[in-house]
Amino acid sequence: MRSLQVCRCGEPMQFAERADPKPAGSEVLLKVLAAGICHSDLHIWEGYYDLGHGKRLQLLERGIKLPLTMGHENVGQVVAVGPKARGVKVGDKRLVYPWIGCGACAVCKRGDEQLCMVPRFVGVYRDGGYATHLIVPHPRYLLNYGSRMKPEQAAPLACSGVTAYGALKKLGPLVKSEPVVVIGAGGLGLICIAIIKAMKGKGAIAVDIDTVKREAAKRAGAFAIVDPNAPDAVAQLQAAAKGPVWAAVDFVGNSQTAQLAIDSLVKGGKLIVVGLFGGDITLPLPFVPIRAMTIQGSYTGSLKELNELIKLVRNRPLPLVPTQISALDGAQRVISDLKAGKVVGRVVLTPA
Ligand SMILES: [Zn+2]
Ligand SMILES: [Zn+2]
Repeated sequence: MRSLQVCRCGEPMQFAERADPKPAGSEVLLKVLAAGICHSDLHIWEGYYDLGHGKRLQLLERGIKLPLTMGHENVGQVVAVGPKARGVKVGDKRLVYPWIGCGACAVCKRGDEQLCMVPRFVGVYRDGGYATHLIVPHPRYLLNYGSRMKPEQAAPLACSGVTAYGALKKLGPLVKSEPVVVIGAGGLGLICIAIIKAMKGKGAIAVDIDTVKREAAKRAGAFAIVDPNAPDAVAQLQAAAKGPVWAAVDFVGNSQTAQLAIDSLVKGGKLIVVGLFGGDITLPLPFVPIRAMTIQGSYTGSLKELNELIKLVRNRPLPLVPTQISALDGAQRVISDLKAGKVVGRVVLTPA
């Protein structure tokens, strides 16, 4: 087994080799066919989130231990099963649900393992898919994504897919009745636009500072695009929505994007914040009741939501978001490109 590890935050990842692990109990060993590189991997590699005003959330103080093999968007082929693992067999190709909790607390039992206080997230708190092999603790985290999708197409569903879907679910019936403003047309935003179509939603209005990304959003199915740096960006959004905006999902999450969304919302509108770019906003509190606004955070999605998403797209795969394939050795370069904002769409590693 060969894996690429973060040994010190912000320094080049290093290869490690060890004997192939043997699955114990309910564990399953997979050969990694596809491992998506996610923007949050950049934050993990750097070791912190920016909280604004020079403050940082240090990830090593939040239970992340080094060395760490990143990679939480994984598709693998089962190569060995533990004596208590039921429901999968050698040769099965499966998508891995990565947002695994302790499995024992009330939050996990209610089905929100992604919100567990003792997380065991694959590629974050335990080793992930930037490796030839991956151990998953239980077969219930392995999803059958069918035969219509390639591994590199299915892998991002575990993070960007379920994250976008989890955010859209928080908008409830608004997805069907109103256009959704999708802020940030990176990997997450593009998948969100495609999922809105798959859900037979009203449609997406995409917002991005980058012309190339705005065009990619249009190709992914956004019916309108807006440059947030335009002086009349709010008016443009409202014109595209044919009125004030009811629903926005912010996949960037910085001071400017959150402010733009709040300024565009109608009374009773909803903003779902997903992006972890960083920064802060000053919000006069009377606006919250007077404008009856909802600002809700969304963090990935539940196992149930990933199962729902797979059901939605298994037989009608999402149009392929521009995806580049890279060997495991190319991961560090991709992380640098992400830092420089040079990646359009997704990059997926093919380690095995
Ligand atoms: Zn991710
Ligand atoms: Zn738990």
